[in-house]
Amino acid sequence: MPYNQLLTTLKALGQAATDLVFPVSCLVCGRENAYLCARCTDSLPRQKQQCLVCQKPSPFGKTHPDCTSRNTVDGFVTSLPYSHPDVKKIITAFKFSFVDTLAGSLASLMIQAIRQQGLQDYFGKFTLIPVPLHPRRLKWRGFNQSQLLADKLASQLNLPAASGLIRTKNTKPQADLDRESRKTNITDAFAVAKEVTGQKILLVDDVATTGTTLNEIAKLLKQAHVGEVWAITAAHG
Ligand SMILES: [Zn+2]
Ligand SMILES: [Zn+2]
Repeated sequence: MPYNQLLTTLKALGQAATDLVFPVSCLVCGRENAYLCARCTDSLPRQKQQCLVCQKPSPFGKTHPDCTSRNTVDGFVTSLPYSHPDVKKIITAFKFSFVDTLAGSLASLMIQAIRQQGLQDYFGKFTLIPVPLHPRRLKWRGFNQSQLLADKLASQLNLPAASGLIRTKNTKPQADLDRESRKTNITDAFAVAKEVTGQKILLVDDVATTGTTLNEIAKLLKQAHVGEVWAITAAHG
């Protein structure tokens, strides 16, 4: 048996064994066959588009003219309200266990949000960049959830995905910190690793809360003379 085929067979056997011990069932309704079934995907609540600076409603998710600066994203699109218990459960499963099939479901929800805002053509010349993990965290977790989402979005939207950022500081999880500490925690945590002059960038992450991380990265990209920078996440709040 050729090596590749052997590897595929072993992977399939491994998945079958995992399914026996942990049968695949919907995280919301408990019915089997998918981690997020089609019915629950449709019935999950949706988050209203908000300015990522003041967190107030904004058409198309565009950052309000008075809120936009060299230190902020120019716009932000999201799909699900993170405060909802089912959403929190889905995102946690996606982040901490290797449930990579969830990446497809979440990416579809993100694309649905883009379409609902009529932004599909607007993003036609954008490059997707996932928010990177620190190499040490990546080693521990084994995968970068934002990278998985960026890859799915890239193939479904037919846009390029690039790893244009590096994480230079192994920060504490933002969720554990208050607003002020979040800012200090994330300052100087990233660096731009590739030429981005004049480019349009769509940052990809799983969750945004206050938007501190995404705005910090937008600041760096604008210092590196990016043309425009938007962000998209699966959940917000
Ligand atoms: Zn379900
Ligand atoms: Zn605003």
